[in-house]
Amino acid sequence: NVRVRFCPSPTGTPHVGMVRTALFNWAEARHTGGTFVFRIEDTDAARDSEESYEQILESLRWLGLDWDEGVEVGGPNGPYRQSERSGIYRDVAARLLEAGYAYESYSTPDEIKERNLAAGRPAEFGYDGYDRDLTEEQKAAFRAEGRRPALRIRMPDEDIVFDDLIRGRIEFKAGSVPDYVIVRPNGDPLYTLTNPVDDAMMGINVVLRGEDLLSSTPRQIVLYRYLMELGVAKEMPVFGHMPYVMGEGKKKLSKRDPESNLFLHRENGFIPEGLLNYLALLGWSIAPDRDVFSMAEMVEKFDVRDVKANPAHFDLDKAISINAEHIRMLDADDFLRRAVPYLHRDGVVSADAWEALTDREREVLTAAAPLVQPRVRLLGEVSGMVGSLLSQEGYIEPDADARKQLKDSAGDVLDKAIEALRGVDEAEWTAEPLHALLDKALVEDGGYKPRLAYGPVRVAMSGRRVSPPLFESMEIVGKDVSLARLEGLRA
Ligand code: GLU
Repeated sequence: NVRVRFCPSPTGTPHVGMVRTALFNWAEARHTGGTFVFRIEDTDAARDSEESYEQILESLRWLGLDWDEGVEVGGPNGPYRQSERSGIYRDVAARLLEAGYAYESYSTPDEIKERNLAAGRPAEFGYDGYDRDLTEEQKAAFRAEGRRPALRIRMPDEDIVFDDLIRGRIEFKAGSVPDYVIVRPNGDPLYTLTNPVDDAMMGINVVLRGEDLLSSTPRQIVLYRYLMELGVAKEMPVFGHMPYVMGEGKKKLSKRDPESNLFLHRENGFIPEGLLNYLALLGWSIAPDRDVFSMAEMVEKFDVRDVKANPAHFDLDKAISINAEHIRMLDADDFLRRAVPYLHRDGVVSADAWEALTDREREVLTAAAPLVQPRVRLLGEVSGMVGSLLSQEGYIEPDADARKQLKDSAGDVLDKAIEALRGVDEAEWTAEPLHALLDKALVEDGGYKPRLAYGPVRVAMSGRRVSPPLFESMEIVGKDVSLARLEGLRA
């Protein structure tokens, strides 16, 4: 039974790299019929926040990445927040100390630097093992000075080798990883202790995480061996380190880059299906010639061994075009319901839920859906497309881009259009006859090329250069408002 985990530290707002980690772990669990554990690593009171915790929960829920054990849902290995597990860490640390796998270290950071320099090493070379074999008298003397010890793990003098699920064989040479701190002098346990202890006690057997954590793996492997000796861990997990996500200009995507901010993508109108599909492509692919797939298809095919080790590049344009494909696949009804909160935010409709809209709003939106759904790539674009259809204004101020479309002939075109349209019977005010009528009046009789003929009409109807199909829009808006808009722009 595969047991994977997602164990973010609640610092800051959810970012793309974090969500990719959650997604790959989730997909591994779902593909194998295993268990997805969600734990919160909040051992750093200075940086952790409840707000960040809530946002991480919200992002997983929004994306539909459900977990089997963990915070909020509970399970047999809880509690699942590290801040509630300090007794466990204290106990394990004491046992590691007693067994000699950990030792008390009284060196201060300054002393370590000084010793490194004195020995001809760089100051930041790392810890030198100075306290490994202190006698009881030496420890007593340090304590008498008022010092309190950190606890360090004793690294063995041997190469540490493991087979990474993604990167293959990885070797750390003997002596390259210094003895490291697991408990601070003030008694606070560190990530170096809490993460492997929890993985062990929660039975995690596959650790999938970002490449940035690769350097902590040899330390964890050693600690795991000790935990197995102590009976705290049953088996060594296997590790897989997912590739970095690169942003613009071959730089790692930083948590602070706007492109990295999950909620910004949501605000712009990514839907979960589209965003997850794109994030899956950051290191994985379903087939060489295929970019668009559902999460059900991903779950069916996902194997962490297929994840590529080379850095993945975050390409916002590609993400948006994949999102567009998923928007197109929605049922019209689903599409509209999801768009409503955006329309409300943008002041285009009266409420933020479909049920709460007016009958007229629902009617217009239902008629507009087939025109709009194939043309938007993000839900945030819907407002601009349907705003002019929902509005009953007789004049729509053209935006700058639309104004540029208006050539000298615009006045004459509008006059001819108005004259032709006035005579149309209300009952026949539908897209096809309107199209035929304007073709005759403007192109055939008027002698205008279609672009010159329809540019001004489009600008009058929508105020924009790009709009939903023109004749359908006129049908939806109706005769009176359509004519008023043409006249309004003419005036
Ligand atoms: N809490 C760690 C982080 O957010 C998790 C590291 C891991 O997956 O082992 O970076």
